[in-house]
Amino acid sequence: MTEKRKNWTKEEVLELYNKPLLQLVFEAAEVHRQNHDPREVQVSTLLSIKTGGCPEDCGYCPQAARYHTDIEKNDLMSVQTVKAQALRAKSSGSSRVCMGAAWRNVKEGDDFDQVLEMVRTVRDLDMEVCCTLGMLTEDQARRLSDAGLYAYNHNLDTSEEHYKKVISTRGYEDRIETIGNARKAGLTVCSGGIIGMGEAPEDRAAMLVTLSCLNPYPESVPINALVAVEGTPMEEQEQIPIWDMVRMVATTRIVLPKTTVRLSAGRTQMTDEGQALCFMAGAGSIFAGDKLLTTPNPDINKDMELFNTLGLTPQKAYKKGDKPEVNENYKNSCSNGEKQKWSRPAHTIEANVKATLNAKEKRKLNPKL
Ligand code: SF4
Repeated sequence: MTEKRKNWTKEEVLELYNKPLLQLVFEAAEVHRQNHDPREVQVSTLLSIKTGGCPEDCGYCPQAARYHTDIEKNDLMSVQTVKAQALRAKSSGSSRVCMGAAWRNVKEGDDFDQVLEMVRTVRDLDMEVCCTLGMLTEDQARRLSDAGLYAYNHNLDTSEEHYKKVISTRGYEDRIETIGNARKAGLTVCSGGIIGMGEAPEDRAAMLVTLSCLNPYPESVPINALVAVEGTPMEEQEQIPIWDMVRMVATTRIVLPKTTVRLSAGRTQMTDEGQALCFMAGAGSIFAGDKLLTTPNPDINKDMELFNTLGLTPQKAYKKGDKPEVNENYKNSCSNGEKQKWSRPAHTIEANVKATLNAKEKRKLNPKL
C-alpha cells in the first residue's frame, strides 16, 4: 500500500466523526471514489468451523463457554463440509471465505493440520481465504500463509481503554502482537471492531487511531453493530441508531482510505436505505449467508436484490492485489516493543461475572444445559 500516510490524532478523528452527517458522508464518498470502484462490493462468507465452548470472556460473545446462550456447539468442521459450503458461497457471488474457530489461540496438532487443509482446499477454488482462530504465533502464521491463507482476522474490537470493560482474559497488547505475527508472515490483515458495546464516540475514534498507526494499516476493517444476545453480559445493551453505523463507516473510510470497510454484524437490524447510506459512505463489502458465525444475517437473495436496486456488483477475488511479501523485520508501531507473552489480565468485569453466575445457576437447575 503506497500512499502518503497521515498520523491521525484522536481529536482529529473525533472531529471527523462529529461532522454534520451529510457532510461526513459526502467527504467519505469522495475518498471512496478516489481509492475504490464504488460500483463493486465484495461478498464474503463467514463460516463457523468450530462453534462455542470458547474459554475467553468477551462480553458480547455467545460462544464463550462461561455464559449460557442458545447457540449450538460444534466440533471442528470436516474439510469436505468446508469445501461444499465454499462452493455454494462462490456460486452465489462470494469471492472470500472467512473461517472462524472459537479458540483462545491456535494449538498445534490434528485440529490445526485440518485447518491448514481447509485453507489449501478453499484457496484451490480461487477464493480469498481468511481465518480467525484467536491468537497465533509467528510460526503458525507462516504455515497458514504457506498453505495459501490470504488474510488473518483479529479484531481490536474497541479502544484500549474500553477493551478492559469488555474482556478480562487477554490484553489489548495480545491483539497487536498477533496482528504483527500475521504481518511478518506476509498475510494481509483484517481487523476492526464492534460498536454499541457501551463505548463513547471517543473510544470509536481511539480504535481507528490505533488501526491507522499500524504500518501498513489493515487491508480490511470490519465494522460490526453489536447484536445483543440473551445470556451474554451485553444482553441488555440497546441497539445503536443506524446513524452511528453510517458515521463509523464514513470515518473509517476517510481515516483508512485504501482499506476495505466491511459492513458486518447487525445488518438484519438495518433497513435497505440505511445499508445504502453505508455503501455511499464507503462500505465495500458485506458478509453473506443466513448466519454470521452465530448471529442472524440477511438472506443472500435479499442482498442481491438490494445490489440490483443500487447498481452494485459483487467484486471478484484478489481485486485488491496479491498477498504482500513475507516481512520478518516487521515492527509494530503500536506496540510498546517488549517481547509479548499472551496475557491473562483477569481483572473483574461485573457484567461478565454476573452472566457467568447466571449461567451456573441455570445449569444447576438443568444439568443438561
Ligand atoms: S469473541 Fe472469539 S475469543 Fe471471544 S469468546 Fe467469542 S469466540 Fe472466544
